[in-house]
This record gives sequence, structure tokens and C-alpha cells, in this order.
Amino acid sequence: MIRTRIAPSPTGFLHLGTARTALYSWAYARHHGGKFVLRIEDTDVARSTQDSVDQILASMHWLGLDYDEGPIYQMQRLARYSEVAEKLIAEGKAYRCYSTPEELEATREAKRARGEKALYDGRWRPAPGKTLPSIPAGVAPVVRFCNPPDGDVTWNDLVKGPITINNREIDDLIIMRTDGVPTYNFAVVVDDWDMQISHVFRGDEHINNTPWQINIFNALGVPLPQFGHCPVILGDDGQKLSKRRGAVSVTAYEEGGYLPEAMLNYLARLGWSHGDDELFTRVQLVSWFDGSHLNRSPAQWDPAKLLWVNAQYMKLADDQRLASLVAGQLAKLPVPLHVEPDGRLQGICALFKDRCDTTVALAAWASKIYGDVAPDEAEKKQHVTDSVRPALALLAEKLAQCAWDKPAIAAAIKETLAGTGLKMPQLAMPVRVLVLGTAQTPSLDAVLALLDRDTVLARLGRA
Ligand code: GLU
Repeated sequence: MIRTRIAPSPTGFLHLGTARTALYSWAYARHHGGKFVLRIEDTDVARSTQDSVDQILASMHWLGLDYDEGPIYQMQRLARYSEVAEKLIAEGKAYRCYSTPEELEATREAKRARGEKALYDGRWRPAPGKTLPSIPAGVAPVVRFCNPPDGDVTWNDLVKGPITINNREIDDLIIMRTDGVPTYNFAVVVDDWDMQISHVFRGDEHINNTPWQINIFNALGVPLPQFGHCPVILGDDGQKLSKRRGAVSVTAYEEGGYLPEAMLNYLARLGWSHGDDELFTRVQLVSWFDGSHLNRSPAQWDPAKLLWVNAQYMKLADDQRLASLVAGQLAKLPVPLHVEPDGRLQGICALFKDRCDTTVALAAWASKIYGDVAPDEAEKKQHVTDSVRPALALLAEKLAQCAWDKPAIAAAIKETLAGTGLKMPQLAMPVRVLVLGTAQTPSLDAVLALLDRDTVLARLGRA
């Protein structure tokens, strides 16, 4: 049975990197008809918040990453971690350490001064014939894992291939803190074991943790999952994607007017490929994603490509759905516009979606229709000239009387052209500038039909 999980820490929004590994874990489980588990790693009590949990759940939902079990909260499993820690202590595979932070720092300093790696000195690690220091009064102990002192830890990483780390590089890590809260590396093992996780996909910042985890799995005598470490995502400056370099949360893209299916497509493709396919559906992703073709080298976040992908999905999106999204965007404008996602807004979406790469861009067009518009001064000067003013007046006269639909508006435009001898662009450009603020719009009759007569006449009147 394939069982995967995603284990975000609720110390902020769902990061794009975590979203991508969530997506791979989800797709892998779905591909194999397995289970996908959501676990909330909230042991960093000081930094974990309910608000972050809510944001993460909302982002998972938005991306359509449905989970079969969870959310499981680590802080609700403290008794289980203690139980396993006690078992390891009883078996001589873990021990209580009473070193104070000051002592530890002094040892580390001394090691650094000798040019050695600042590892724990093993003072409290029991060994046959070894006399341990006497237990100091008033010091709450941590629990440390007896890491094997030497030998290699090797695993065949699903993404990176074989990885080997020598045990001399790592020390007896703390598995339980003085307050009875487990550390990440311990909780993750107990959980992956209890939740029978078969495949772990996560960011490669965890590669250095994996040998400890493997050693703990082995000490417990339980089966290991397979590990796949996905490389970091780089910003367009080649540095690790970070807040300073732009949006890093899924939420920011939702708010920025991206469609979840575009985000899913882009994130999946960022670090994985299926031939030359750039656009694919969820169903295709699930049928193709078998854990192979994951890139070993870092992917670069490409905002322009994401926009392109989103634009493709905008074209395909249903107008009713777009209208609801655009209504939401309009309500968030600095000067909010409260508009029903009715047939009119759907018509606007149908007409403009081909030229918009986000729903924010689409809302900008809608706001020109529902709100007011300030014509671009340079364009106004260029197109709204004395030679066209009589034609604009004539058109206004005809529009004041005609039926208010696209064919009648088209006829009024045609009659105005015939009556003035102007060519279509000579009339259409100034009308567009006056009515929508810019000379670049879809076909004039369709645009005017989306506005009401009074608004069009008022805007033409500004000529
Ligand atoms: N809470 C860890 C993180 O967010 C999970 C790492 C893992 O998947 O093991 O990085």
C-alpha cells in the first residue's frame, strides 16, 4: 500500500516549496491508488499558530490536494512520543542527558577551537564500564538518541540517487526536549512509522536529517520509508526563493488572481517533466506521476512562465466561474466595487478573458465598465481630435436612440462611418479611449453593449 504524507509546520503560509512536495506526494498516492496523509508539525509551540494552520488547510483545499487522513497534530501525540522514547531508553538506545546549555556551549567552543566539528561529546551516553557523572540537582534532562558512532548511512534517494553520510558527521541528537516535546527528527520517525508512510517526498534541506531518521527507524526495528528529496526552488536571481524576493506563499497567488489548476500545473512542472508537455490536467498528472523524472537540480521560479500558464487556463475557464472570481477581486479593490456575478459580468469575462493573464487583470477591465475611467491623456490627445469630434457627436446621437444591443450598436457605428466618411479605426480608437480609457479593446460594438447607454453617452460627452 502506497502511503504518502505532507507535514507542514504551521509557522506561516503554505510555502511554494512545501506546496510542490505536497503535490508530488498527493499525485504519487493517487497514481498508485494509495493514501495521502496531512500532518501538522506544530511542535515549535512558540511559532505555530492556528491562523497558519487555517491558511495551510485553505491553500491545500484551493489547490485541490485532498487528503485521506488528517490533519493529525503532533502536539496531540505527545504521549506517544514519550512512550517510544521510554522504550528506546529501556533498550539502551537512548539516554537522559543533564548537560546544561552552558556546558554544551563550552564543549562546542573547545571543539571549534581545535578545528573539530562541534558535535555533542557523549558525556551522558552510557557505555559498558563507563561511570556517568552524578545527576545534578535542578537540571531537567533532555533525551538523546544513541547514534551509531561510525559506519555509513546510505539510502537510494528517489530524486537524487544514492546518498551516503558517515555517522562520524553526526552526533547523539536530542529527541525529547526538557519540556517533553519531541524534536522534529524524532517526531517525524514515530509518525511516519505509526502512519505507515511508504514514501517521503520533501525538500532537500532535510537531507542532513535523513541519516538520523534512518538510524532511529533502525533502532526501533521498523521498516523504512523511501525518501525523495526535491531540490530547492530558486528565484529569478538564482538565490533561494524567499519572501524578500517576492511572493512565496500559495495564498499570495490565489489573491493575485491565479487559477488553482494553473498553479498546480506550473508547480508540478517546476521540478518534474513528462516529455515536452507544458500544459496538463490533474487527471493527466495523476496518470503520469510515478515518481520518476523528478529533476535533480534546482528549479527556477519563472513568473513570466507562470503568467503564461495562467493565461492559457483563463481562456479555458468557464465564464460563470470567472465572474465569481472577478466579483471577488472587484470587492477587494482600493475603492471596492460590489458587483453581482450575473450575466453581464459573465459577458465581460467572455469578451476580455483572452487578453488577461490573471483574474486581477480581468477585474481591471471590469472596473472600467462598472466604475469610472480616466482616459489616458496621451492617447486622448492622439485620437480624440477636432477632425473626429463631429463623428463622435453623430454617433452619440444615434446611440441615444437605437435599441441597446450589439447588432443595433453595430448598425449605429456603421451609419456614423457612412455619414462622415471615416474609416473604422478613426472612429473606434477615440471611442475606445473615451469609453474604456485605452485604444486597445475587443471589438467596439461588443464592448459598448456591455455598458449601459447612459454611461456610454456620458463618457462620449467628455470628448
Ligand atoms: N515540518 C517539516 C517541514 O515543514 C517536514 C519535513 C518532512 O517532510 O519530513 O519542513
